[in-house]
Amino acid sequence: TKSTVIITGASSGLGLATAKVLADSGEWHVIMACRDFLKAERAARAVGMPKDSYTVIHCDLSSLNSVKQFVDNVRQSGRPLDVLVCNAAVYLPTAKEPRYTADGFELSVGTNHLGHFLLANMLMEDIQHKENDTNRRVIIVGSITGNTNTIAGNVPPKANLGDLRGLAGGLDGVRSSVMIDGGEFDGAKAYKDSKVCNMLTMQEMHRRFHEKTGVTFASLYPGCIATTGLFREHYQLFRTLFPPFQKYITKGYVSEEEAGKRLAQVVSDPTLNKSGVYWSWNNQSNSFENELSQEASDAEKAKKLWEISEKLVNLS
Ligand code: NDP
Repeated sequence: TKSTVIITGASSGLGLATAKVLADSGEWHVIMACRDFLKAERAARAVGMPKDSYTVIHCDLSSLNSVKQFVDNVRQSGRPLDVLVCNAAVYLPTAKEPRYTADGFELSVGTNHLGHFLLANMLMEDIQHKENDTNRRVIIVGSITGNTNTIAGNVPPKANLGDLRGLAGGLDGVRSSVMIDGGEFDGAKAYKDSKVCNMLTMQEMHRRFHEKTGVTFASLYPGCIATTGLFREHYQLFRTLFPPFQKYITKGYVSEEEAGKRLAQVVSDPTLNKSGVYWSWNNQSNSFENELSQEASDAEKAKKLWEISEKLVNLS
């Protein structure tokens, strides 16, 4: 029988490319957790995913209620869950004003971090209850841009969670700042901050659950996939110049297909089952365990982030 993987944001870019690789392998049933049902269904068909290899289930990560509804629907589908991939993200680099989730959190951190935080916590129950299986994983897609020990991660505005005072206040722009560190709104920074949260969450999950449950936790930087919808809100000039810049100057560019193969490896390759790892790939496309920046590997901060996030999504 096939294993089951949930991929959030599987309607485009990396998520779709990964869904395609896994569906084509014949070994996986892919649950596409998407906010736009029709778009996801069309995307799956357009890339030629076999009809019985996937199910689209609605999930809008910018609404905690939607996340809960999604979890209910997954449970009702009766498929035992093997792997969760937290992949969806929004990036608002040109926004002048903050936008908000249904629950009133700044949209980038609310979607990329808090939505996934609730989802991953709720689904731990479903993943760990499967016996005799060594391939149970929770993967949270990270990024180099949140990682200040790299050149890309040092392009301003840099990620910085500070003492998390804005997050503790609820990121609502009324009682607290919309930024985690309490600063002024900056859409590009909010995205990078959310990616640091993703990487910290993966490590905290590893510390809290790996030994007890045997589940593998991992994050990754798949390479710069300069052509995806992630850059849809960027200036047109940037969108024209960014792919060739990444291809020919930084040489960090990867195609959506290649990035999809990489994420699919983290889902299913038996040799990539070490927990607590942030995977990257070298120029020969070989995977290696990468180092995270000081902030993105700060265990104290991860714990604090966890405790505040639990309160915000009403888990504690
Ligand atoms: P895309 O914009 O192509 O994909 C993002 C996906 O997230 C889309 O399917 C989108 O849905 C979905 N999404 C956005 N908001 C929500 C929401 N509220 N609820 C549910 N789904 C939502 O970008 P990428 O494929 O590039 O991004 C995928 C991941 O890769 C992200 O985590 C990103 O941070 C990471 N990444 C990307 C890099 C790159 O160079 N592109 C580099 C490093 C990391 P919809 O189709 O409906 O808009």
